[in-house]
Amino acid sequence: MRLEGDFQWFQSKRKGGRWSIRFQLRCTRWWREEAFRYAIFDGTGQLEPYRSFLELPANNAVNIDYDTCSWDWCQGDTFAVLNEKDEIVEHWTLSLHTYAPGECPECHGTKQCQKCQGTGQIKSQNHMISTCPDCLGTGTCVCCYVPIRKIIGNTTGTTLTNDNTLASANHPAMDMSRQRKIDALHKQIFDLQAKIQQCEWDERMMQMRNLDVSAHSVYMAKLQLKMKYHQQLINLQHELQQLEGM
Ligand SMILES: [Zn+2]
Ligand SMILES: [Zn+2]
Repeated sequence: MRLEGDFQWFQSKRKGGRWSIRFQLRCTRWWREEAFRYAIFDGTGQLEPYRSFLELPANNAVNIDYDTCSWDWCQGDTFAVLNEKDEIVEHWTLSLHTYAPGECPECHGTKQCQKCQGTGQIKSQNHMISTCPDCLGTGTCVCCYVPIRKIIGNTTGTTLTNDNTLASANHPAMDMSRQRKIDALHKQIFDLQAKIQQCEWDERMMQMRNLDVSAHSVYMAKLQLKMKYHQQLINLQHELQQLEGM
């Protein structure tokens, strides 16, 4: 595959011109197109993977974002190129730099846009009020903002179990060992999600306290651990997808 991908900020039309993330994929071949199937995996494992097919002409790029396919990119989400056997051959994961509390060079931890002081609006000399050109009206610091998908309680676990029951009911001939594997995967995924929630809770707690420098490395270690869990979760989700699709 001759593909190059990267994540960029852009102004989403569907979000009324707000900043949003897009994934841009380019075919670097100059004589032939690349045709392949792909999937987008939610870093938190809550959403169903988005699956589709792409035919990318030589030397051409395509944007995959909220405006083009309704996928709202969040930290930890992965774009994966699949082969005929549904295996991942290449992937890109959104991993934006995360600042520790107080570390952001722009807002120093307030998370407020410096140009408009978090109001989203600026007043010009002739007292005209207009939308802040930096944050585009959100009032959020654009330097340290990272889109994170919210984890909704334990409902994910329940939904997964329900889906699982439905799947078994629809396929009575499904062999038991495979069913056991699927059950085990659901359990592992559920446990991982709980671990991620715990990490996020710890993070929030650390953010609430004023961290000194010695605690900083602990915070970064926590973030790294969470990213590791996210990656494991993506792999498990993929494995489950393959098993259930058999
Ligand atoms: Zn900031
Ligand atoms: Zn602003």
